[in-house]
Amino acid sequence: MPKDYYEILGVSRNATQEEIKKAYRRLVKKYHPDMYPGDKAEAERRFKEITEAYEVLSDPQKRAQYDRYGHVGPEQGFDFGPADFRRAREVFEEVFGRGAFEDLFDFFFGGGTRAAQRTRARRGEDLEYRIKVSLEDAAFGARVRATVPRLVRCDRCGGSGMEPGTGTTTCPTCRGTGRIEYRHTSIFGSYINVRPCPECQGFGEVFERPCRKCHGSGRVREKSEIEVEIPPGIADGERLLLRGQGNAGMNGGPAGDLIIAVEIQEHPVFHRRDADLYVEVPVHYGELVLGAEIAIPTLEGEERVRIPPGTDPHEPYRLRGRGMPNRMGGRGDLIVNWRVVIPRKLSRDQRELLQRFTESLSPARGKP
Ligand SMILES: [Zn+2]
Ligand SMILES: [Zn+2]
Repeated sequence: MPKDYYEILGVSRNATQEEIKKAYRRLVKKYHPDMYPGDKAEAERRFKEITEAYEVLSDPQKRAQYDRYGHVGPEQGFDFGPADFRRAREVFEEVFGRGAFEDLFDFFFGGGTRAAQRTRARRGEDLEYRIKVSLEDAAFGARVRATVPRLVRCDRCGGSGMEPGTGTTTCPTCRGTGRIEYRHTSIFGSYINVRPCPECQGFGEVFERPCRKCHGSGRVREKSEIEVEIPPGIADGERLLLRGQGNAGMNGGPAGDLIIAVEIQEHPVFHRRDADLYVEVPVHYGELVLGAEIAIPTLEGEERVRIPPGTDPHEPYRLRGRGMPNRMGGRGDLIVNWRVVIPRKLSRDQRELLQRFTESLSPARGKP
């Protein structure tokens, strides 16, 4: 008889994803073995049932298929293994913490059997690495070299962890069964908890001799030279994802990812605000009054601009399109703020000229 997943989770047929998740959260708490010490078989049956129901109904594609045909995949439900329950695991780990899902599978199915074999190949860890780039490289893009410490596949054993020419042998700790029994006591009573053998991680076999170079892990630490493509206009703190460039996987698993966190170095001349750049340029009073040709630093190098006579020092001067690239494919502006330079030392001539000029503007104040 086909199972009614909606009934199992206690939700209506038009329940939202949020409602389905909530129902599953409630039920995993209810059927956790710690809460169900008396009847392992019943807890297992209910747990499998709700997890299967959740796995189907939380996946919009599977749910649609189920609504239409009344079942998904094989008629008798699923063949279980922890790897098949990505969505359920997420909820489970939210409720009980990391690793709780595997523990429960070990409890139900006996550690080290199929569950452990399925997870023998492990994906390598993701790595994060910070690189500093100059403002110019951030503006125009660049290829940057970085030396990243990471774990790579051991070349001595090809990643197997075994000394070349040797093989595996039966685990002495569990005598090849792959499991060890523990008595587990909680406030609800005690039960026998079967866990994978720590010596052989549940595989029942250990290496005759571990590889001398990697000590059996199949991976070695290395400082790898990598090239990072910095896209033009990257923002400070932005992250770049380099797939498969993290730590090597274990036992044939895929490599993790490398996440590059880009830090843009402080620039001695320009300050950045979004796509606009700010620069301060020294200028003399006379140049503002009379107008002048002044050298302005830009990302592309120095540029001479004409400022008109009577330029207000508080009025920023704007070079359009000379800032950083923006998200629309254009560029921001370069904004020049004038810093009026007051000369500290004047020659006798200069002092007289300035005196006369000042008196001509305001005779009353000019006299000592
Ligand atoms: Zn090795
Ligand atoms: Zn063992």
